[in-house]
Amino acid sequence: MKKVLIYNFSGELAEITHLFPSERLARIAAIARTAGHDPLIIDRANFSGLLEFGADFLQHLGDMSYADHDVIYDAQVQREVDNLVSLAPDLLFLNLWHGAGFKFSFDLARELKAKKPDLQIFGVGQKVDWFGAHILELEGQAFDGLIMGLGYAAVECLCAGKPISETPSLIYRAPSGETATGDHSLLNPDDYPAPLYDNDVYLDLDRKIPVYTLILSNQACPNQCVYCIRPTNYGRSQQRREIAEVVKEVQWLYEHRGVTHFRIEDSTPPPRALTELAEALAASDLVGKVFFCAFSRVDSNGQEDFELLKRAGFISLFFGIESLADEVLLSLSKGITVSEAGDTLKRAHAAGIRTVGSFIFPTPRETEKSMALTLERIRELRGSLDSALVLAAGVYPPTPWGQDPEKYGIKLDEDYLDRVIIYPVKYMLPLREWPPYPLTYDLMGRPAAEVSFDDIVDVHEVFVKTVREDFGIPGLPDYYFLLAHRLAQHPTAAAAAIVPLMMSRDYAGLEALFQRECAK
Ligand code: SF4
Repeated sequence: MKKVLIYNFSGELAEITHLFPSERLARIAAIARTAGHDPLIIDRANFSGLLEFGADFLQHLGDMSYADHDVIYDAQVQREVDNLVSLAPDLLFLNLWHGAGFKFSFDLARELKAKKPDLQIFGVGQKVDWFGAHILELEGQAFDGLIMGLGYAAVECLCAGKPISETPSLIYRAPSGETATGDHSLLNPDDYPAPLYDNDVYLDLDRKIPVYTLILSNQACPNQCVYCIRPTNYGRSQQRREIAEVVKEVQWLYEHRGVTHFRIEDSTPPPRALTELAEALAASDLVGKVFFCAFSRVDSNGQEDFELLKRAGFISLFFGIESLADEVLLSLSKGITVSEAGDTLKRAHAAGIRTVGSFIFPTPRETEKSMALTLERIRELRGSLDSALVLAAGVYPPTPWGQDPEKYGIKLDEDYLDRVIIYPVKYMLPLREWPPYPLTYDLMGRPAAEVSFDDIVDVHEVFVKTVREDFGIPGLPDYYFLLAHRLAQHPTAAAAAIVPLMMSRDYAGLEALFQRECAK
């Protein structure tokens, strides 16, 4: 029996979702236990971890650049290394998150390997999806491999002690020095054990915010939007889970952990899967007791029964719309039309579901005309759009934009790869306070070579200001509507209570808010 550690450190609390229990980590633990091992999840993104590391250290870490070291930081890494080594692990799955958590986890892996050379360390998670093999090129890296996408088959093989070279979905360095990737086979989550949420395995689970994640499929997406990393990492062939299995998971979490709020994580739920789930819930004794938010597409999820979803407890839906200018939607290979966006938003909103539209602005080759058109159509839809999220286009290596930038009017800086991999995404701050992107793109009729990061920020700010101030549409993610429901507050009041506590790093205050409000 091996001691299998599953570790996550997200750094500063940049997104409230960091505090939601991780289905991915819990399922890795379940696979390890089924293989006969002794798993332990140390997920430091909880109130206990935030208070133990402390606001001062987390702020300090957030201000450090990737290559920085100092006495305080190095001592904290060493403390965590000693803590993990004392648990005598044989195998470590390390969640690699963007932002400051990545720097800490990367240094942690190196120091752990120095102290315990026989420990096998595998990276999983978002940063692997974004940068894959490039992480293995970073100086001082100590990973034995990186697991792409869901990677359950890889975890199973590694727990069974199979050779790295025979492990699917694993990026590793071959003896030749070249990076290699195992076969990326299709998998269905139902073929693997259910996530393990025992308190003696998932430590300090009660110090997280009890919004649990569900998945309805293998998270593949049949589309191929030019900015998206998902098809590369999760595939394009959707494997639907049995809805009965999903409901079983909800029932277990409700009965054993008192969970009432869930986030469905599929970025593109299979068509009608949300409706099938709603049908099953509506026919069960869970109805009225459990609540959900989810992602969805305006086309493939446009035929969901939104009234039924509402009755089954769906609070909000996130729609990736990106633009309401036809030529931009075409250039993004988004595969949706302006009229589909309008129809679906109107029907979902009319059913009483809070609608969240996500936009990319600006996109490469955005023009005054496409900007005006998108704004005008958002204005027309404002009665059906409860929230609009806006981010300026960024470029990740495994996407069509990253693979063939010139074709899309994108100019990557010469040191793009070195900088993008350690780029500190700062979701809590306005774009103007982010470091310059290591890239630029054609914008407003000007070639990329003449467009600076400030130019991108300038048009982004005008767009956001118009949406917020002229149209009165807030920028609340889908899960804020769910949290507001849990806190029994209006969504804007809930955000006004949560965000300042996060910004001021008042983690005790944030925990008290959830304990106080949820106890009512
Ligand atoms: S953006 Fe959404 S729809 Fe497009 S490829 Fe990615 S997951 Fe699929």
